[in-house]
Amino acid sequence: MKRDEDVAVVGAGLAGCLLACYLARRGRRVTMYERRADPRTGAAERGRSINLALSERGLDALRRIGLAEVALADALPMRGRMIHPVQGELDFQPYSSDQDRAINSISRGSLNQALLDAALAAGVEVHFEHTLVGLAPATGDLRFETPAGDRKATAAVVFGTDGAGSAVRGQLLGHGLLTEELDFLDYGYKELTIPARDGQFALDPGALHIWPRGTSMMIALPNPDRSFTCTLFWPTGGVSSFASLASPAAIEQHFATHYPDVPALAPDLVDDYRRNPVGLLGTVRCAPWQAHGRVCLLGDAAHAIVPFYGQGANCAFEDVVWLDHCLEETGDDWSHALPLFEQRRREHTEAIAEMALDNFVEMRDRVASPAYQLRKQVEHG
Ligand code: FAD
Repeated sequence: MKRDEDVAVVGAGLAGCLLACYLARRGRRVTMYERRADPRTGAAERGRSINLALSERGLDALRRIGLAEVALADALPMRGRMIHPVQGELDFQPYSSDQDRAINSISRGSLNQALLDAALAAGVEVHFEHTLVGLAPATGDLRFETPAGDRKATAAVVFGTDGAGSAVRGQLLGHGLLTEELDFLDYGYKELTIPARDGQFALDPGALHIWPRGTSMMIALPNPDRSFTCTLFWPTGGVSSFASLASPAAIEQHFATHYPDVPALAPDLVDDYRRNPVGLLGTVRCAPWQAHGRVCLLGDAAHAIVPFYGQGANCAFEDVVWLDHCLEETGDDWSHALPLFEQRRREHTEAIAEMALDNFVEMRDRVASPAYQLRKQVEHG
């Protein structure tokens, strides 16, 4: 039987797990449904942003419910950018004159696991291999595809934390309850690996490494196993694009010319390049985020952004805190709290979406330009 406090959270990614923790803490009975298999029984997905940069914005949301320490257990602080030019010296550009300020390189899988464990410990019920395929927004009736066939459920309140390609958003769209705009870049991304060398980091682990190349860009973040995960951003089609490197020789030649320090650092470069998929990058804009005061989108499902500011997950975590404040202020009245959350939060997520697009130009281009170097020299004395 559906009770007033029953909440369904669709999508047990970063946003869904943190949201479930916060709601359970408010005394809600939370059931989380996740398309993937239980991560405790399977291998991590390949080529899907293995690590991410966690900044103060996201840490604050974790700290409020005592999860910052566990999230930071294996984190590697990055205090600045290390620029790799085609020729010449590496150039370290600190993020702040305060040496204690850093962004943290964190394993997405470990963070997701830590949040899932916290949700389970808080009494959240989790159903894996449940793919949402139907939703009646007015009643909260849900339909999932599972390996054992279709399964129905119902909840007083439903959250869509099912990412950029959100099925919950799709259902609201299908019921004529929202409009959406999906703005894909003509750039994609591919992950490559720089393994540990003689058991040590092959590059400085205290920096986010950037190879700015104008039409393309590569970044690398350190991992606790002393490897680096590199993300190469490049157009998806055209003469100079992922599609243009069709043979091992072409891949080797391209890196030798444009990323000359990389081949010696990445012995599996050609294999990685050929095996790992090209991921899409885009911005999701939709309105409204909620319907009937009982179905609400949060995190990437509501406002996915391009990753160049490293703020998508941080922003999703911040959503949870703002929603929590709205629930507090409205005495847990969903029909008031959900519209209030959207009304307050939207302008901030729209701003970060624009900043993330701007930062692409900054990272691939301006960080290497003489004007930028001069400005930084002045700023840092
Ligand atoms: P997701 O992480 O996408 O989770 C959605 C969950 O829903 C998944 O578990 C999925 O399996 C599940 N799901 C999907 N469909 C269904 C369905 N029909 N039924 C049930 N479950 C479903 N952010 C940062 O803050 N810092 C970074 O450094 C950073 N780097 C990034 C680098 C790259 C290359 C990319 C692509 C993104 C990066 N991001 C970064 C953004 C960050 O990954 C996202 O903002 C974040 O994952 C959003 O979390 P989420 O929980 O909203 O969505």
